[in-house]
Amino acid sequence: MPLLDIRNLTIELNTPHGKVKALERISLTLNVGEIQGLVGESGSGRSLLAKAIIGLSEPNWTVNADRLMFDGKNLMTMSNRERRALMGKHIAMVFQDPTGSFDPANDVGSQLLEVMPVPKGTPFWRRHSERKKQAEKWLHKVGIKNTKEVMDSYAWELSDGECQKAMIAMAIANKPQLLIADEPTTNMEASTRAQIFRLLNQLNQLQNVSILLISHELENLTKWCNTLTVIYCGQIAESGPTSKIMEKPFHPYTRTLLAHLPNAEQQVAHKSMMQTMPGSIPALQHLPIGCRLGPRCPKAERKCVNQPLIAKDKDRNFACHFPFNRETDNDANSRS
Ligand code: SF4
Repeated sequence: MPLLDIRNLTIELNTPHGKVKALERISLTLNVGEIQGLVGESGSGRSLLAKAIIGLSEPNWTVNADRLMFDGKNLMTMSNRERRALMGKHIAMVFQDPTGSFDPANDVGSQLLEVMPVPKGTPFWRRHSERKKQAEKWLHKVGIKNTKEVMDSYAWELSDGECQKAMIAMAIANKPQLLIADEPTTNMEASTRAQIFRLLNQLNQLQNVSILLISHELENLTKWCNTLTVIYCGQIAESGPTSKIMEKPFHPYTRTLLAHLPNAEQQVAHKSMMQTMPGSIPALQHLPIGCRLGPRCPKAERKCVNQPLIAKDKDRNFACHFPFNRETDNDANSRS
Protein backbone atom coordinates (compact mmCIF):
# COMPACT_ATOMS: atom_id res chain seq x y z
CA MET A 1 0.00 0.00 0.00
CA PRO A 2 1.46 3.42 -0.95
CA LEU A 3 2.08 5.89 1.87
CA LEU A 4 0.61 8.80 -0.07
CA ASP A 5 -1.95 8.14 -2.78
CA ILE A 6 -3.47 11.03 -4.71
CA ARG A 7 -5.89 10.51 -7.60
CA ASN A 8 -7.31 13.28 -9.77
CA LEU A 9 -6.83 16.13 -7.34
CA THR A 10 -8.21 19.42 -8.63
CA ILE A 11 -7.95 22.77 -6.87
CA GLU A 12 -10.17 25.59 -8.09
CA LEU A 13 -9.43 29.12 -6.94
CA ASN A 14 -12.18 31.67 -6.67
CA THR A 15 -10.62 34.87 -8.03
CA PRO A 16 -12.08 38.31 -8.92
CA HIS A 17 -11.83 37.14 -12.57
CA GLY A 18 -13.87 34.00 -11.93
CA LYS A 19 -12.92 30.43 -11.08
CA VAL A 20 -9.57 29.09 -12.27
CA LYS A 21 -8.21 25.56 -12.03
CA ALA A 22 -4.79 26.02 -10.41
CA LEU A 23 -4.31 22.25 -10.28
CA GLU A 24 -6.09 19.90 -12.65
CA ARG A 25 -6.40 16.13 -12.21
CA ILE A 26 -3.12 15.61 -10.37
CA SER A 27 -2.24 12.01 -9.52
CA LEU A 28 0.78 11.06 -7.44
CA THR A 29 1.85 7.95 -5.56
CA LEU A 30 4.61 7.91 -2.95
CA ASN A 31 5.71 4.57 -1.55
CA VAL A 32 7.17 3.92 1.89
CA GLY A 33 10.89 4.71 2.00
CA GLU A 34 10.86 6.58 -1.32
CA ILE A 35 12.25 10.02 -2.14
CA GLN A 36 10.10 11.56 -4.82
CA GLY A 37 10.94 14.83 -6.54
CA LEU A 38 8.19 17.20 -7.66
CA VAL A 39 9.64 19.55 -10.23
CA GLY A 40 8.18 22.48 -12.12
CA GLU A 41 8.61 26.19 -12.75
CA SER A 42 7.42 28.83 -10.29
CA GLY A 43 3.65 29.12 -10.58
CA SER A 44 3.17 25.50 -11.63
CA GLY A 45 1.20 24.70 -8.46
CA ARG A 46 3.77 22.62 -6.53
CA SER A 47 3.27 24.48 -3.26
CA LEU A 48 -0.54 24.38 -3.63
CA LEU A 49 -0.33 20.61 -3.86
CA ALA A 50 1.82 20.42 -0.72
CA LYS A 51 -0.60 22.64 1.18
CA ALA A 52 -3.58 20.59 0.02
CA ILE A 53 -1.92 17.43 1.36
CA ILE A 54 -1.39 18.90 4.81
CA GLY A 55 -4.83 20.55 4.80
CA LEU A 56 -3.70 24.19 4.71
CA SER A 57 -6.26 25.29 2.14
CA GLU A 58 -7.44 28.91 1.87
CA PRO A 59 -11.13 29.91 2.05
CA ASN A 60 -11.22 30.64 -1.72
CA TRP A 61 -10.00 27.14 -2.65
CA THR A 62 -12.25 24.28 -3.71
CA VAL A 63 -10.37 21.00 -3.36
CA ASN A 64 -11.74 17.88 -5.05
CA ALA A 65 -10.09 14.51 -5.41
CA ASP A 66 -11.10 10.97 -6.23
CA ARG A 67 -8.58 9.85 -3.62
CA LEU A 68 -6.33 11.63 -1.12
CA MET A 69 -5.02 8.98 1.21
CA PHE A 70 -2.15 8.92 3.68
CA ASP A 71 -1.14 5.57 5.14
CA GLY A 72 -4.62 4.19 4.43
CA LYS A 73 -6.42 7.17 6.01
CA ASN A 74 -8.65 9.42 3.94
CA LEU A 75 -7.40 13.00 4.27
CA MET A 76 -10.50 14.37 2.48
CA THR A 77 -12.93 13.21 5.12
CA MET A 78 -10.66 13.60 8.15
CA SER A 79 -11.69 16.06 10.85
CA ASN A 80 -9.37 18.96 11.74
CA ARG A 81 -8.62 17.28 15.03
CA GLU A 82 -7.59 14.00 13.38
CA ARG A 83 -5.47 15.92 10.86
CA ARG A 84 -3.72 17.87 13.63
CA ALA A 85 -2.83 14.58 15.30
CA LEU A 86 -1.09 13.48 12.09
CA MET A 87 0.85 16.70 11.55
CA GLY A 88 4.27 17.02 13.10
CA LYS A 89 4.38 13.43 14.25
CA HIS A 90 3.57 11.53 11.06
CA ILE A 91 3.63 14.25 8.38
CA ALA A 92 6.01 17.20 8.59
CA MET A 93 6.55 20.05 6.20
CA VAL A 94 9.39 22.45 5.49
CA PHE A 95 7.81 25.61 4.09
CA GLN A 96 9.19 27.81 1.36
CA ASP A 97 8.94 30.97 3.48
CA PRO A 98 11.10 30.10 6.50
CA THR A 99 10.87 33.39 8.43
CA GLY A 100 7.10 33.67 8.06
CA SER A 101 6.62 30.12 9.33
CA PHE A 102 7.84 30.98 12.85
CA ASP A 103 5.80 32.88 15.43
CA PRO A 104 7.45 36.34 15.48
CA ALA A 105 6.43 36.91 19.11
CA ASN A 106 8.33 33.90 20.50
CA ASP A 107 12.01 33.08 20.26
CA VAL A 108 13.06 30.27 17.97
CA GLY A 109 14.31 28.16 20.89
CA SER A 110 10.93 27.96 22.64
CA GLN A 111 9.26 26.91 19.36
CA LEU A 112 11.90 24.27 18.79
CA LEU A 113 11.55 22.90 22.33
CA GLU A 114 7.78 22.49 21.85
CA VAL A 115 8.27 19.84 19.18
CA MET A 116 11.42 18.07 20.35
CA PRO A 117 10.81 14.45 21.32
CA VAL A 118 11.82 13.12 24.74
CA PRO A 119 12.54 9.42 25.36
CA LYS A 120 9.70 7.52 27.02
CA GLY A 121 9.98 7.36 30.78
CA THR A 122 11.90 10.64 31.14
CA PRO A 123 10.83 12.16 34.49
CA PHE A 124 9.05 15.52 34.09
CA TRP A 125 11.83 17.49 35.83
CA ARG A 126 14.34 16.35 33.20
CA ARG A 127 12.15 16.85 30.13
CA HIS A 128 13.11 20.48 29.54
CA SER A 129 16.85 19.81 29.61
CA GLU A 130 16.36 16.70 27.43
CA ARG A 131 14.42 18.76 24.85
CA LYS A 132 17.13 21.41 24.89
CA LYS A 133 19.77 18.77 24.26
CA GLN A 134 17.74 17.37 21.35
CA ALA A 135 17.20 20.85 19.86
CA GLU A 136 20.95 21.58 19.99
CA LYS A 137 21.72 18.18 18.45
CA TRP A 138 19.34 18.72 15.50
CA LEU A 139 20.48 22.31 14.96
CA HIS A 140 24.06 21.02 14.75
CA LYS A 141 22.99 18.36 12.26
CA VAL A 142 21.49 20.94 9.89
CA GLY A 143 24.68 23.01 10.01
CA ILE A 144 24.09 25.63 12.74
CA LYS A 145 27.16 26.12 14.91
CA ASN A 146 26.03 28.98 17.17
CA THR A 147 23.04 27.03 18.50
CA LYS A 148 22.55 29.08 21.69
CA GLU A 149 22.49 32.36 19.79
CA VAL A 150 19.97 31.01 17.26
CA MET A 151 17.73 29.55 19.98
CA ASP A 152 17.71 32.85 21.90
CA SER A 153 16.83 34.87 18.78
CA TYR A 154 13.47 35.72 17.21
CA ALA A 155 12.91 34.57 13.63
CA TRP A 156 13.06 38.15 12.32
CA GLU A 157 16.55 38.55 13.81
CA LEU A 158 17.93 35.58 11.84
CA SER A 159 18.86 35.28 8.19
CA ASP A 160 16.55 33.32 5.85
CA GLY A 161 19.15 30.55 5.68
CA GLU A 162 19.29 30.18 9.49
CA CYS A 163 15.48 30.15 9.74
CA GLN A 164 15.32 27.52 7.02
CA LYS A 165 17.81 25.31 8.84
CA ALA A 166 15.93 25.74 12.14
CA MET A 167 12.69 24.78 10.38
CA ILE A 168 14.28 21.68 8.87
CA ALA A 169 15.53 20.70 12.36
CA MET A 170 11.95 21.08 13.69
CA ALA A 171 10.48 19.04 10.86
CA ILE A 172 12.85 16.09 11.04
CA ALA A 173 13.41 15.82 14.81
CA ASN A 174 10.36 13.55 15.21
CA LYS A 175 11.36 11.37 12.25
CA PRO A 176 7.96 11.63 10.54
CA GLN A 177 6.68 8.98 8.13
CA LEU A 178 6.34 11.63 5.42
CA LEU A 179 8.41 14.77 5.04
CA ILE A 180 7.25 17.35 2.51
CA ALA A 181 10.14 19.70 1.78
CA ASP A 182 9.17 22.71 -0.34
CA GLU A 183 12.35 24.27 -1.76
CA PRO A 184 14.25 23.34 1.44
CA THR A 185 17.60 24.81 0.44
CA THR A 186 16.70 27.97 -1.50
CA ASN A 187 18.40 30.46 0.80
CA MET A 188 21.48 28.40 1.59
CA GLU A 189 25.03 28.46 0.35
CA ALA A 190 26.13 25.57 -1.90
CA SER A 191 28.11 23.65 0.77
CA THR A 192 25.17 23.71 3.24
CA ARG A 193 22.78 22.62 0.49
CA ALA A 194 24.78 19.47 -0.05
CA GLN A 195 24.84 18.88 3.74
CA ILE A 196 21.03 19.21 3.97
CA PHE A 197 20.46 16.84 1.05
CA ARG A 198 22.86 14.32 2.60
CA LEU A 199 21.00 14.60 5.92
CA LEU A 200 17.62 14.04 4.23
CA ASN A 201 19.05 11.09 2.37
CA GLN A 202 20.43 9.65 5.62
CA LEU A 203 17.02 10.03 7.29
CA ASN A 204 15.47 8.23 4.39
CA GLN A 205 18.00 5.39 4.45
CA LEU A 206 18.29 4.89 8.22
CA GLN A 207 14.82 5.88 9.49
CA ASN A 208 12.77 5.01 6.39
CA VAL A 209 11.34 8.55 6.20
CA SER A 210 9.54 9.02 2.87
CA ILE A 211 10.23 12.40 1.31
CA LEU A 212 8.38 14.54 -1.21
CA LEU A 213 11.05 16.96 -2.37
CA ILE A 214 9.64 20.00 -4.15
CA SER A 215 12.00 22.12 -6.21
CA HIS A 216 12.56 23.90 -9.49
CA GLU A 217 16.15 22.63 -9.56
CA LEU A 218 15.92 19.48 -11.62
CA GLU A 219 19.68 18.95 -11.26
CA ASN A 220 19.43 18.37 -7.48
CA LEU A 221 16.30 16.26 -7.72
CA THR A 222 17.80 13.89 -10.27
CA LYS A 223 20.70 13.31 -7.88
CA TRP A 224 18.67 12.50 -4.76
CA CYS A 225 15.25 11.23 -5.85
CA ASN A 226 14.20 7.68 -6.73
CA THR A 227 11.20 8.91 -8.68
CA LEU A 228 10.22 12.18 -10.33
CA THR A 229 6.94 13.90 -11.05
CA VAL A 230 7.11 16.76 -13.53
CA ILE A 231 4.32 19.31 -13.28
CA TYR A 232 3.57 22.14 -15.68
CA CYS A 233 1.05 24.87 -14.99
CA GLY A 234 -1.08 22.73 -12.70
CA GLN A 235 -1.07 19.61 -14.88
CA ILE A 236 1.07 16.49 -14.61
CA ALA A 237 3.46 16.24 -17.53
CA GLU A 238 5.27 13.04 -16.65
CA SER A 239 6.18 10.78 -13.74
CA GLY A 240 8.26 7.67 -13.20
CA PRO A 241 11.67 6.39 -12.03
CA THR A 242 14.31 9.14 -12.22
CA SER A 243 16.84 7.06 -14.16
CA LYS A 244 14.30 6.15 -16.87
CA ILE A 245 13.06 9.73 -17.22
CA MET A 246 16.66 10.98 -17.49
CA GLU A 247 17.46 8.39 -20.12
CA LYS A 248 14.33 8.69 -22.23
CA PRO A 249 11.96 11.53 -21.39
CA PHE A 250 8.54 11.12 -23.03
CA HIS A 251 7.07 14.58 -22.50
CA PRO A 252 8.39 17.56 -24.54
CA TYR A 253 8.51 19.67 -21.35
CA THR A 254 10.67 17.14 -19.47
CA ARG A 255 12.89 16.77 -22.51
CA THR A 256 13.43 20.54 -22.69
CA LEU A 257 14.16 20.76 -18.94
CA LEU A 258 16.76 17.98 -19.23
CA ALA A 259 18.29 19.48 -22.37
CA HIS A 260 18.81 22.78 -20.55
CA LEU A 261 20.47 21.39 -17.44
CA PRO A 262 23.68 23.34 -16.71
CA ASN A 263 26.77 21.50 -17.90
CA ALA A 264 29.98 22.57 -16.17
CA GLU A 265 32.14 20.70 -18.69
CA GLN A 266 30.71 22.44 -21.72
CA GLN A 267 32.66 25.39 -23.16
CA VAL A 268 30.38 28.41 -23.44
CA ALA A 269 31.23 31.66 -25.21
CA HIS A 270 31.55 34.75 -23.01
CA LYS A 271 28.21 36.54 -22.44
CA SER A 272 26.30 33.91 -24.44
CA MET A 273 22.59 33.55 -23.64
CA MET A 274 21.41 30.68 -21.42
CA GLN A 275 19.36 28.10 -23.27
CA THR A 276 15.79 28.09 -21.96
CA MET A 277 12.35 27.13 -23.15
CA PRO A 278 10.81 29.99 -25.18
CA GLY A 279 7.92 31.89 -23.57
CA SER A 280 6.78 31.81 -19.97
CA ILE A 281 4.20 30.00 -17.88
CA PRO A 282 0.72 31.47 -18.63
CA ALA A 283 -1.25 33.40 -16.01
CA LEU A 284 -4.02 31.33 -14.43
CA GLN A 285 -6.64 33.74 -15.82
CA HIS A 286 -5.40 33.18 -19.39
CA LEU A 287 -4.84 29.45 -19.60
CA PRO A 288 -4.75 27.94 -23.09
CA ILE A 289 -7.39 25.34 -23.81
CA GLY A 290 -6.35 21.69 -23.93
CA CYS A 291 -2.71 20.99 -23.16
CA ARG A 292 -1.42 23.98 -21.22
CA LEU A 293 2.07 23.64 -22.72
CA GLY A 294 0.60 24.16 -26.22
CA PRO A 295 1.84 27.73 -26.96
CA ARG A 296 5.40 26.82 -25.91
CA CYS A 297 5.57 23.26 -27.16
CA PRO A 298 7.80 22.45 -30.15
CA LYS A 299 5.57 19.46 -31.05
CA ALA A 300 2.13 21.04 -30.69
CA GLU A 301 -0.46 20.12 -33.29
CA ARG A 302 -4.16 20.66 -33.80
CA LYS A 303 -5.00 17.67 -31.61
CA CYS A 304 -3.39 19.38 -28.60
CA VAL A 305 -6.44 21.64 -28.09
CA ASN A 306 -7.88 18.53 -26.41
CA GLN A 307 -6.30 17.94 -23.03
CA PRO A 308 -4.23 14.75 -23.23
CA LEU A 309 -5.23 12.05 -20.77
CA ILE A 310 -2.64 10.41 -18.54
CA ALA A 311 -1.21 7.41 -20.40
CA LYS A 312 0.63 4.56 -18.69
CA ASP A 313 3.75 2.80 -19.91
CA LYS A 314 4.86 0.16 -17.36
CA ASP A 315 6.04 2.18 -14.33
CA ARG A 316 5.76 5.54 -16.08
CA ASN A 317 2.93 7.99 -16.70
CA PHE A 318 2.77 10.87 -19.14
CA ALA A 319 0.23 13.26 -20.59
CA CYS A 320 1.03 14.09 -24.21
CA HIS A 321 -0.53 13.31 -27.59
CA PHE A 322 2.89 13.16 -29.32
CA PRO A 323 5.45 11.87 -26.83
CA PHE A 324 9.14 11.38 -27.61
CA ASN A 325 11.07 8.12 -27.27
CA ARG A 326 8.19 5.69 -27.59
CA GLU A 327 8.46 2.94 -30.16
CA THR A 328 4.72 2.93 -30.75
CA ASP A 329 4.81 6.67 -31.40
CA ASN A 330 7.51 6.61 -34.05
CA ASP A 331 5.04 7.66 -36.67
CA ALA A 332 3.85 10.59 -34.69
CA ASN A 333 7.41 11.64 -33.84
CA SER A 334 8.58 11.47 -37.42
CA ARG A 335 6.05 14.13 -38.36
CA SER A 336 7.88 16.75 -36.27
S1 SF4 B 1 -0.04 17.33 -25.95
FE1 SF4 B 1 0.72 18.53 -27.68
S2 SF4 B 1 1.16 20.56 -26.83
FE2 SF4 B 1 0.99 19.15 -25.12
S3 SF4 B 1 3.05 18.50 -24.72
FE3 SF4 B 1 2.17 16.98 -26.08
S4 SF4 B 1 2.70 17.66 -28.15
FE4 SF4 B 1 3.06 19.39 -26.76
